[in-house]
Order: sequence, then structure tokens, then C-alpha cells
Amino acid sequence: MEKSIAVKNLDKVITKVEAARLRVSEHHIVKIIGISKYSEADDIATLYSAGQRAFGENKVQDLKAKSEVLEELPLEWHFVGRLQKNKINNLIDLNPTLMHSLDSLELAEELNKKLEAKNKKMSCLLQINSAKEDSKAGVMPEEAVKTYQTIVEKYPNIRLKGVMSIGAHVEERDIIKNSFETTKTIFDELKSLGAKYCSMGMSSDFELAVACGSNMIRVGSSLFK
Ligand SMILES: *Cc1c(COP(=O)(O)O)cnc(C)c1O
Repeated sequence: MEKSIAVKNLDKVITKVEAARLRVSEHHIVKIIGISKYSEADDIATLYSAGQRAFGENKVQDLKAKSEVLEELPLEWHFVGRLQKNKINNLIDLNPTLMHSLDSLELAEELNKKLEAKNKKMSCLLQINSAKEDSKAGVMPEEAVKTYQTIVEKYPNIRLKGVMSIGAHVEERDIIKNSFETTKTIFDELKSLGAKYCSMGMSSDFELAVACGSNMIRVGSSLFK
């Protein structure tokens, strides 16, 4: 049978990630999260049949709709978008594998309160605005370590697992690289506090992100378009 476009795209991404990670080390394992926000449940099921297990959405209602349709498949669901306060309870009820976009102490406090009320925990990443762009969410790099520590100490229903960031939104490779290196330096500092994932790299820059030490990439358009 002819391979679908989505599967051909997945093969290409896997080949590139494999080469990029081996340039770092044989033991540098990179997890690929298929960001399915541009696509429908059918395409996700197609990628599942080609071996992809982890998917992510940036809207709580889309995560709910797609995860319900695909309930019978053993998928892992990630949340990567801005979380509005009035959607926190909905996200908690969906039991995401990992929430990548914990972007302020204020959100951490609110999320922890709602988790506590439901007697639940959630694994999260602290989002860092490493390129200091106004258009982006996340804590400033200078505040990241302290904020991370505070969340670990004060909000026990949040299980912090590392950091997430979006590469600088520019053409110049060096500037993007700088933003990834900033995040990686913070990630290394946070390993003693249990940080395991450094989620960075999207369709346009995942090879560079892996070269800079990312161990989790979030690819959408290069898989689904
Ligand atoms: C959409 C999105 C992605 C994937 O972006 P592509 O450029 O399509 O690969 C990754 N991370 C976040 C936070 C997103 O919103």
C-alpha cells in the first residue's frame, strides 16, 4: 500500500532527529511529540499505526475532543498551549501526560489549588521565554531557576519535570541558537531539582534544538501539512 503523506513526513522527521541526536551522543534520546493542532483524529490514527505514540494540542477543547475520539488507542497526550484559568479544571480532568506550558507563578498557584481540590497531580514543564519576546509566554531566563524552586517547594500537586521554550522567532540561526543555549543552561542547573525534560525545537528548528541539548521536540506542520 502507498504510504500516506503523514507517514512519509514522520519518516523524514525521524531520520533527521536520528542523525541530529547521534551527533550529540548515542545515548542522547529525543522524544518526538506530534503536535496535532492542524489535523484531525484520522491523521493521528495514521501516525499511530506508523509507530508514533505521543501527541500534543494547544487548546484544551481540542485535546478533549481528539483524545475522546481516539480513546481506544494507547496514546500519550501533551498540552502545549496557553492555559486560561477557566480551562484548568477541564485540563485536569483529561489527565495529560505532560503539560509543557506552565508559564508563571500565578498560574502555578491556581493550578495547584485546583489539583489539590481534586486530589490529583500533574506533570508540568516550566516555560521559559528565553528570547525575551513580548509575544511569548514564559518566565524570564533570570527568574527561571528561582521560580522553579518556588514551585517545587510551594506547590506539591505540580510535579515539575523540566523546562520548555520556543526558539527565537527570527531568521538568524545564531539568535535562535542563543535562545536554545539559554534554555539548556537553565535546564542543566535544574537537574539537581529533578528536571528531566528539555522541550525545545519545532518544525523549523528541531535539528538545531537537538544539537543544543533538547531531548523533547514538538513538531506539527512538518508532520501534518
Ligand atoms: C504549534 C506548536 C508547535 C508545533 O509547531 P510547528 O512549527 O508546526 O512544528 C510546537 N510548540 C507549540 C507550543 C505550539 O503551539
